[in-house]
This record gives sequence, C-alpha cells and structure tokens, in this order.
Amino acid sequence: MKSDFKDSIEKAVNNANLTGALGKFSEAYKVNRARAYEGIDFEALRTVIAERKGYAATHLDQMAADFTRNAEAAGARVFCTSDPEKVKEYILKVARDNNVRTVVKSKSMATEEIHLNSYLEKAGISVGETDLGEWIIQLAGQTPSHMVMPAIHMTKEEVSELFSKEIDQRLTTDIPQLVEVARRELRSKFLAADMGISGGNLAVAETGSIVLVTNEGNARMVTTLPKIHIALVGIEKFVEKFSDIVPILDALPRSATAQLLTSYVSIITGPSPNTDGSTKELHIILMDNRRSEMAHDPKFRQALQCIRCGSCLNVCPVFRLVGGHVFGKIYTGGIGTILTAWFDELKKSEEIQGLCIQCGNCKEICPGKIDIPELILEIRRRLVEKEGLPILQKAIYSVVNNRRLFHGMLRAASIAGRPFSSGKFLRHLPLFLADLTDGRSLPAIAAEPFRDRFQKIKQPKCSEKAAFYAGCLIDFAYPEMGEALVKILNRAGIEVVFPEEQTCCGAPARYSGAYEVAARNAADNINALLSEEVQYVISACPTCTVALVHEFSSTFQSLGQTEWLPRAQELAGKTVDFSTLVKKLVDEGRLTLKEGQQLGRITYHDSCHLKRTLQVAAEPRQLLSRAGYELAEMFECDMCCGMGGSYSIKLPEISAPILQRKLQNIKNSGAQTVAMDCPGCVMQIRGGMDQDGAAISVRHSVELLAEQLENPRG
Ligand code: SF4
Ligand code: SF4
Repeated sequence: MKSDFKDSIEKAVNNANLTGALGKFSEAYKVNRARAYEGIDFEALRTVIAERKGYAATHLDQMAADFTRNAEAAGARVFCTSDPEKVKEYILKVARDNNVRTVVKSKSMATEEIHLNSYLEKAGISVGETDLGEWIIQLAGQTPSHMVMPAIHMTKEEVSELFSKEIDQRLTTDIPQLVEVARRELRSKFLAADMGISGGNLAVAETGSIVLVTNEGNARMVTTLPKIHIALVGIEKFVEKFSDIVPILDALPRSATAQLLTSYVSIITGPSPNTDGSTKELHIILMDNRRSEMAHDPKFRQALQCIRCGSCLNVCPVFRLVGGHVFGKIYTGGIGTILTAWFDELKKSEEIQGLCIQCGNCKEICPGKIDIPELILEIRRRLVEKEGLPILQKAIYSVVNNRRLFHGMLRAASIAGRPFSSGKFLRHLPLFLADLTDGRSLPAIAAEPFRDRFQKIKQPKCSEKAAFYAGCLIDFAYPEMGEALVKILNRAGIEVVFPEEQTCCGAPARYSGAYEVAARNAADNINALLSEEVQYVISACPTCTVALVHEFSSTFQSLGQTEWLPRAQELAGKTVDFSTLVKKLVDEGRLTLKEGQQLGRITYHDSCHLKRTLQVAAEPRQLLSRAGYELAEMFECDMCCGMGGSYSIKLPEISAPILQRKLQNIKNSGAQTVAMDCPGCVMQIRGGMDQDGAAISVRHSVELLAEQLENPRG
C-alpha cells in the first residue's frame, strides 16, 4: 500500500468531523432501517429483486432492443453506446445543435462516472447540480463520497462557509436557513436552464419508461422545465416488466434512507409538452461501459443486481471511519470497489480493495443480494493472478505452505518472544514490530502447543469420534481452549482425535488473493481430517469453520481444480462449529450444565464469520444463559472487532479505532465478562482490554462452558 494512500487513511481517521458524522449516521441508520422493514419479509423481497434484476442482466440485448423500440414509439430518441466518450460527444452535439448555454442536472452517478460536468464546462456550457448534496460538493470542488448522500462527509459549518461564499453573504449554520438559500439559488437556475440532464433509477423495457426516485423534487424540475431532457442510464438499470419496479420501490427508500416512501417517484414515458405548447426533446442514452462484459462474467454478473441504495456503505465499519473519498473512487465502499474495478479498471481498485475487512455486514443487508465480500476477494485473486504477490507475502506463504517449517517457526517464535512477554501477553515488541502492540497486546506463543498437550490428555474410549481442527491460534496461542473442547466432548461421550498433519486453514492466503496457496492448505487439511473415520469435524474458530465448510470448495472451483470437490464437500458435510454441536448435545440430554448458578452479567460479541456466514447467534447465548450467566446485550454486538485476520496487522490505523469502539460498547454493557466463539476475536479484544486496563474478562465460550459442566453421575 503506497504511503500517500496510508496518509489519506490516517487523515480521515483523525478527522473528528468526518468520523463523527458518519459514525452517528450509521448508528441511527441501523435502528431506523430495521424499523422501516418491520412487517416485511426482507429475504423474500430481496430474492425477488435479485431474480428480476438478474434476469435483466442476463438478457441485456433483449432489454435494450425492447426498451429502444418502446421508448421510440413513445417519442423519445434513444442512443446506445458502450463508449463513455461517445456519450459525452452525443450530449455536447445535442447541446450545440440547440444553442444550449446552461444545463441543470439532477443526481446521476453515471454522469459522475464519465466526468460529464468538466467536459461540458470545458466546452463552455455551464452545469448546475440541483440535488442539494450534489450542489454542495460541486461548490466544494469535490466528488460524491456516498452514492445516495453525496455530501454526508461535510458538516453544517463547512456548508455554511460554501454557501456564504457563493451568495457573498455571511450565513449562520442554521440548517433551515441554508436549505432556503439553496432553494432560492437553485430555482433561478431551473428557470434559466436550456437543458436538463438526469440519470434514471430504473429503465423499463416493456414500456420504454425511465423511473426517477428522489426526495427533493429537483429531478421533476430538471426533467420538466427545460425544453430538452437527456437521461443517461447505465444498462444495469433495466427491468423487464413494469410490475418489476414494485419490489424495487419497496426496498429502495427503506434501504437507502430508512424511509417507507421517497417523496417523489417520476415515471417518464416519452416526451411531455412544454408550457408553450411545443413538445420536449427527450433523449435517452443507454450506456454500457463494460456492463455487458460484466454480465458475461459468471462471478461478477450479480453486481448488476445493485439498485444503488447505498445501504452497504451505511453499515460498513470501514466506510464509517474513512468515508468515500478514501474508500472508493467515483463509486464508493465495497460495491464501489467492485464497480471501479470494472467501469474504470482493475488496477484502480488495487488499494481500495485492501480496505475491506470481510465482515459481511454489507452482504447481509444488500437488497440486490450481492455477495460483496466474495467479489472483493475475487478482485484480489485476479490482481494476484495478473501481478503476482509482493515478495514479502510470497516468502511468508511459502512457509505457510510447508507445515513442518511453519510449525517449527511458531515453536521458535515462542522462545524468541519470551524476553518481550509478561504473563500471557506480549505488550511491547521491538523495532519495526512495535506497531503490532500499539493499542492491543498480543498473546504470547504457548510454550507447549495444543498438538503436544493433546498427547497427554487421557480420554475415554468412545464409539463416537470427532476430529478436532484447532486452527493456528488455538494450536499455538490458546491451547487451553482446545483442552476445554476435549473435556466437553468427552463428557458427552465423544472421543476426540487430532490429526497431526492439519495445518493453517488457508484463510489468510485466500483473503490476500493468494488462492494457489489457499488451495494447497485446503488439500493438506482435507487429507488430514478425512484420514480417520469420524462422525464430526469440529472447530472452535469460525474463520476456520467457514474455510472448511465453504471456502475449500469455492477456492478449488475458482482455480478449476474440480477433482478436489467431492472430498471438500465430504469434509464440509462433517464440519460443525463448537456452539452448534454443544447446543445439540445439551438438547439431546448428552451434556448437562450445572443448574441454578448465578455467574453474573455477561455480554456476547458475535464474530463476523459465525453470525453472518454460519448463521449462528442464538446457540452460544442460550448455552451461556443456561450455564447461569445473565446476558446483557451490548450495542452493536455483531459489529466487527477490527481483527479481520491479518487486517489488524496490515491496517492498524483502521483496526485500532474499530477495536476501541467495540471495547467501549462492551464496557457500556456493564458486564464483567465478554464471551465470543472466535479465538481471533479473543486475541483482538483481550489484547485491547489488557492495554485499556478495564477489569473485564474476555473468554471463549468453550472455556466458560467447560467450567460449568455437571459432574458425571455415579
Ligand atoms: S450493493 Fe446492495 S446494498 Fe450496496 S448499493 Fe447496491 S443494492 Fe444497495
Ligand atoms: S465486507 Fe465489511 S468491510 Fe467489506 S465492504 Fe462489506 S461491510 Fe465493508
């Protein structure tokens, strides 16, 4: 990552105005969005949207032909092109043919995508943005930082300053007064404009209509007052039928701004009459700009299901820290990273793709059902395929791919770290490693890894067996978690086996785009874990569980190594996370927790992979409550803790403030203990608490439950 990009991250994180505005908005958004969707089956709604938009995306030629025929029959002129330059030339020609001097625009990301304003201004045509947010950023000479709220990063003080300069009059920061100024200034622009330019939220092939959804009414003025209206529509906006707009209009305001309805929905089918009785000139430009190429890519096609609600930005822990001017180009956040890689070029997404921590928040709420984190990983994979891995990473992964060498180095690190450890923590590391313990202590590498301790555990012989996949953290940093797991399973009559040949799950390599490395890790683990006849493969690390259940297969698929799929699927079928299996054993009466205890207040942190990919959230809470803890939910219990595997090492400037927010939420819950199911989250949160000094104990559920097992009868 280049140092000027790192600088821009640091600047954004330290900009209290920015983080304050985005932080407050995102906190309120989550609550308001949930309220707006009350009584609506969101999963069913987004399935319909994904299906309708998906259909249009796979029939783009047909959509364009039908739309053109129907729009032209209604009196519009339709121009289709794949080339952004041709779009600009067409608009300029229409303007020149009609002696256009001034243009008003309503918000259109497609015009931002092709830098239309500067092109027209250079040709001597004055362009006025009329959406309040767009007007603010136009005055500030900036690009939008959010696709729905372009000026969300600006404070009222900054806006007052801009408006004061524009009208040459000192204004206060009173928002109604500022809005009044905007209304007055913009009204005269509408009345004087020769041409209006809009985007389009949807384009209906069946009727040749474009649909505009706005809150300010400016799009109506732009499309009705000037005698010429040009609508620039990206071809991903197609839907086949008029009825297809209904589910999208249900979701768009709820997801975008947590409103039940937007103030204005305009449906334009053919030109309308002007006030002097003449007929408006309506031009509709259908712009491709690599969208049809995207539609032919089996991985990325789903990105065309986006309805541009911006919801994914509102819930993104990284976006709310750094904003869209750092996390994005023209299009921002996770989806912006994907669109940049296509509409601009893959290389331009190189830095911003690294900002995604893979928490999955965006995927969970996307009304277009787009797997944004997975597509970002695919961008990483393609970047690595094209440009190779950086030398340092290459060296690290060559070690990770050699299990004996890798584990040997971890053992050596246990000894090397001793001078810097105090108790179970490394609090200060020397020289260039010092940043690693900034704001978070690290666990000392265990003197004796789990794989050695396991040999000494005396287990009963049982007919039922489970293979334990420990993962690197439990094996080498937290072996006591592994011992707790063996104790619990033994008590339920399950014998644990530990296949020695198991190695790193490959997640760090996969999340860096090094799929070849991840595939070798996957193959080694499949061979190890399927080497014994067992009923279950159990893991107490959700990142590892996700790797075993989902990612081994998808990595092989991405690389075309399909010969591995049957065994990867066999392993996936046997793999279960710790809480799900223990809950089942308790429900079946095979495991009993001590009854009637009062263990005090506990709060629970949902690890991203457990909650979002494995869909496990209730089970650990039920088990802890049953064991005698009083559950006190923290605010944003399922928000990422900033760990993200190697993310906290690569981007400590982002990881650290995310962790600080998590620590504060834990403290605010009033609990004496915080539990979680992920050793990675334990490492991050326990290390943060250690440096914070708060007297809150940070534990993996496996340790807490092992302490509360009822003694066996008899
Ligand atoms: S990716 Fe999904 S959440 Fe993000 S803007 Fe598009 S539809 Fe909305
Ligand atoms: S996965 Fe998380 S960090 Fe990545 S884009 Fe989505 S919300 Fe943001």
